Amino acid sequence: MLMYMGLEHHIIIIGGGLAGLTSAIHLAREGMPVSLIEKNTYPRHKVCGEYISNEILPYLQWLDADPAVLAPADISRLLLSAANGKTISATLPLGGFGISRYTLDHFLLGKALAAGVQLITDTVTDVEYRDDRCVVKMKTHAPLTGTIALGAFGKRSTLDQRLSRAFLRKPAPWLAVKGHYEGAFPDGLVALHNFPGGYCGVSKTETGALNICYLVQMDSFRRYGDIDRHREEVLYRNHHLKTIFNNSRPLFDQPLAISQISFGQKTKVEQHMLMTGDTAGLIHPLCGNGMAMAIHSARIAATVVLRYCHDAGYDRQRMETEYTREWEKAFSYRMKMGRLLNNLFLKDRLSTWLVQQMASVPAILPFIIRQTHGKYLAI
Ligand SMILES: Cc1cc2nc3c(=O)[nH]c(=O)nc-3n(C[C@H](O)[C@H](O)[C@H](O)COP(=O)(O)OP(=O)(O)OC[C@H]3O[C@@H](n4cnc5c(N)ncnc54)[C@H](O)[C@@H]3O)c2cc1C
Repeated sequence: MLMYMGLEHHIIIIGGGLAGLTSAIHLAREGMPVSLIEKNTYPRHKVCGEYISNEILPYLQWLDADPAVLAPADISRLLLSAANGKTISATLPLGGFGISRYTLDHFLLGKALAAGVQLITDTVTDVEYRDDRCVVKMKTHAPLTGTIALGAFGKRSTLDQRLSRAFLRKPAPWLAVKGHYEGAFPDGLVALHNFPGGYCGVSKTETGALNICYLVQMDSFRRYGDIDRHREEVLYRNHHLKTIFNNSRPLFDQPLAISQISFGQKTKVEQHMLMTGDTAGLIHPLCGNGMAMAIHSARIAATVVLRYCHDAGYDRQRMETEYTREWEKAFSYRMKMGRLLNNLFLKDRLSTWLVQQMASVPAILPFIIRQTHGKYLAI
């Protein structure tokens, strides 16, 4: 716990999901002392569609964390259906892979520990900025002082409340449900099936299990009250979903569910903490790009942090401004497109019409996919 006391620089990362783990590996491999504080233990299932774009592969390879060793499911095609079941498919411009968060996060943790990251299992309760240092308070451990804190604590945390972050004052009327299933599903495919009030992603993971994960508006869900009834009454209106669920066997005792998911704008720096991953903003999951963005934002954060620690002429203000600017440059447009697509696809008639139009001009769907994804993340 005291191992980094007295060192010139000490980076504290709050949250050990994809953004936290990736930035931890990057910084530790560059010789920085890093403490990573995660409230949960590993490995652990998370609510996520588990389709990840290939755009981050060069960066993960550079970090010596190539997920190829985990034998993920290769994914090269998207099948999209409107709520009435009408489909269109397209080749994914960069392609991607299916891997469970259970396996991926645990794998990255191993890489982080091997790079010298100190893992602290605890919940961060507050972060203060004093005398040009950040002081991170936890539930059970003594406070930790560091040069810089990175916020990587996900979509919504008690820490957001503690920091009175503005996005909490806006409605977040979404519920997400995820489970793993045994069942038949084509290799190489990720499916996105719309249903009234939401959409559902289906793809294979590294074990061959199907990940079925959907997002639904709370209002639509509340009318039915429980997951089983809502699934049968609403999701099954899209016959593709009815077929998939009826021909699959759940591998979890209960599906995982989370609510109050916000897709609103979030600040990128708070209490001099650089926010990464979902803590800085979550793209609508129908884009299938949140994980790649979390990893990419970790790289942006690690780059400016390293410069701050090594270049005396690069002060904290410049680091924070550059981080915000680079984040906006990389992701603002994708986030806007994600909101637009989400609004279009939530309207049943419009989404049916859109799928029909896309069927007659097949180039439209790959074009749309490119608007919500990045290029290969060069080093
Ligand atoms: C329904 C749904 C489906 C999705 N499907 C896809 C998909 O198919 N493809 C894709 O690319 N993206 C998808 N996403 C988005 C993707 O899951 C996220 O963008 C990604 O998980 C972000 O990673 P992260 O590291 O920012 O956050 P997380 O992975 O959520 O990590 C945050 C970590 O912080 C920890 N934490 C929180 N508070 C504290 C605290 N106070 N102290 C200590 N630790 C704390 C948490 O325990 C957690 O481990 C989906 C999202 C949703 C909601």
